[in-house]
Amino acid sequence: MIWQFGSAFNAFRGTAWMPDPCQSCERRDIDFGGCRCQAMAMAGDPTATDPVCSRSSFHAELQARADEDSASTDVALVYRRMPREQRP
Ligand code: SF4
Repeated sequence: MIWQFGSAFNAFRGTAWMPDPCQSCERRDIDFGGCRCQAMAMAGDPTATDPVCSRSSFHAELQARADEDSASTDVALVYRRMPREQRP
């Protein structure tokens, strides 16, 4: 039921909800703007372009973090946590 009727799920169906660069992107019907969870976690905005996309304004920051993490010898697994003030 929640999958079919939940407002959060329905808000992101199709492509009409997308802002640019996704709205004008030739891949919008293929990846549907990427991951909404990653957009929320990094941009604090579930409508933002997925930060893993090179067209995202957060991509450089994500890439820098990934480069830093991959260069580290500390291999402890750390779960992502959304700051309390960003939780719904
Ligand atoms: S996430 Fe990137 S590739 Fe996908 S639709 Fe948006 S701009 Fe295009």
